[in-house]
Amino acid sequence: MKTVEKMEFSYLQQAKDYVDEVYEMVKKRNPDQVEFQQAVKEVFDSLIPVLAKHPNYMQQAILERMVEPERTITFRVPWVDDKGKVRVNRGYRVQFSSALGPYKGGIRFHPTVNESIIKFLGFEQTFKNSLTGQPIGGAKGGADFDPKGKSEMEIMRFTQSFMTELSKHIGPDLDVPAGDIGVGAKEIGYMFGQYKKLRGAYEAGVLTGKGIGYGGSLARKEATGYGTAYFMDAMFKDNGLSLDGCKVIVSGSGNVSIYAMEKMVELGANVIACSDSDGYIYDENGIYLETVKRLKEEEQGRIREYIKEHPHAMFKEGCSGIWEIPCDIALPCATQNEIDDSAARLLVANGVKAVGEGANMPTTLEAIEIFLENNILFAPAKAVNAGGVAVSALEMAQNSARLAWSFEEVDSKLYEIMNNIYTTSTKAAEDYGQPGNLVLGANIAGFIKVADAMIAQGII
Ligand code: NDP
Repeated sequence: MKTVEKMEFSYLQQAKDYVDEVYEMVKKRNPDQVEFQQAVKEVFDSLIPVLAKHPNYMQQAILERMVEPERTITFRVPWVDDKGKVRVNRGYRVQFSSALGPYKGGIRFHPTVNESIIKFLGFEQTFKNSLTGQPIGGAKGGADFDPKGKSEMEIMRFTQSFMTELSKHIGPDLDVPAGDIGVGAKEIGYMFGQYKKLRGAYEAGVLTGKGIGYGGSLARKEATGYGTAYFMDAMFKDNGLSLDGCKVIVSGSGNVSIYAMEKMVELGANVIACSDSDGYIYDENGIYLETVKRLKEEEQGRIREYIKEHPHAMFKEGCSGIWEIPCDIALPCATQNEIDDSAARLLVANGVKAVGEGANMPTTLEAIEIFLENNILFAPAKAVNAGGVAVSALEMAQNSARLAWSFEEVDSKLYEIMNNIYTTSTKAAEDYGQPGNLVLGANIAGFIKVADAMIAQGII
C-alpha cells in the first residue's frame, strides 16, 4: 500500500473509532435522551470521511464540544387558568452554539416537550443555520404546555409567564427565538409585548416571526413551506425530473404543511393528502387548499371537517396510514419520527420518487437507510426546511437596518438561499465520495463552518 493511502486508511479507522467513542459518551451522559441520541447519531455517521480528511477536528475534540450545549436553561412557568387554579409547566431554552452568531431557533409549546426533544432540535438547528450561510448560531426552546383547548387569556397568561423568565437570557445580539409547533404569530406577539415591557425598550430584533405591523418580515409565515418546495424543485431539476403532475402527500396541516402544499401546487404538483394529529384526508383529484387554510388558520378546526364540504374525499382516523397512499413525493411536515421503517418500505413499494423532511427529524434512522438503499431522492430536514430560519435571519437584518422589504424581495432571497443550500449539500456529498447522498452532504457542509469557527475562536 502506498504511504498516502496507508495514512488515509489509518485516519479513516481513527475517525470511526473517535465517532464511536464520542457517541458512547453521549449515550452515557444523556441516558434517557433518545431523540437527542438519534440526532447525534445521524450527524456523526456522516462525519467520518471529513474527520479522516481533517484529523485536526479530532485533535481539537470538536465533537465532544459540539454535543455539549453552551448553556441549558430550565425554568418554572407558573400561570393561573380561567378557573383561578394555579398551574405549573416546565420551560426550556438550550443555547447550543454561538460559533457563527447569536443563538437562533424556535420555541415549541407541546405536551411532549422535554429536554431530549429540545436538545435534538437545538443540535440540528446549529448545522441548519450554518447551511443557510447566514451569521446565526443554534438554539431551541419550549415548554410542555398544551395550547389545545386553552382560552385566549390562558394562552396569553402562560406565554407572558414563560417570557418573564426567558427574557433574562435572550436579546437581539444574544439569542433570538422564533415560533415552532404550537407557537405562531399570536404567541410571538404576546412574547414580544412582555419582553418589551420588562426591558423598557423596543428591541425589535429579539424575536422573529413577528406580525408585519410591528417588525415582522413579509414571507416569514410562508418561508419554511415555500423553501421546502423550492428545494424539492431544485433537486428534481438537477435529476432531470419535473414536479409537474407529481402526486404529493404532506403530513400535518400546520404552518409548514400549508405553505409547502401551496408552493408545490404552484410549481405544478398535485397534493392529494394531508393530516393532523387525529387522522388524514385523501382527495384523489387534489386537495382544496383554501378549505384547509380556513379550517386550520382561521377556525382552529380539525382536518376531519374537510369532508363536510368535500364529501367525495375520505377521512381516516390515525396519522400513520397516510403513508399507505401511493405517491411520487412524500413530505412529512408534522413532527419527529413520523416515518418508520415499515412506512418507508410501503412508500418505496408504492413507487415514491422523493422524500423531503419539512418537519424536523420526521424520518427514523432505519427509514432513512431504506430510502438511501433504494436510491430514493432524500432531502434531509436541516437542508430542506432551512427556509424558515433563513427568512428569520432576513427579519433580523431588516430590524437592524430599520427597513421592510417587499414580499417579492424576501421571496427571491429565499429562493436563492434554498438553491444555494441544495448546491452546497450536493457538492459536499460529491467531494466526500457519496454523490447524491444529501444527508451526508448537508451534515458535512453544515459541520465544517461551525467546526472551523470554533477552532478559530479558541477553546472557550
Ligand atoms: P404547527 O403547530 O403549525 O403544525 C403542526 C402540525 O402537525 C399540525 O397540523 C398538527 O396537528 C400536526 N401533527 C402533530 N403531531 C402529528 C402527528 N403525530 N401526526 C400527524 N400530524 C401531526 O407546527 P409547524 O408547522 O410550525 O412545525 C411542523 C414541523 O416543522 C416541526 O417538526 C417543526 O419543528 C418543523 N419546522 C418548523 C418551522 C417553522 O418555521 N414553523 C421551521 C423549520 C422546521 P394538530 O393540529 O392536530 O396538533
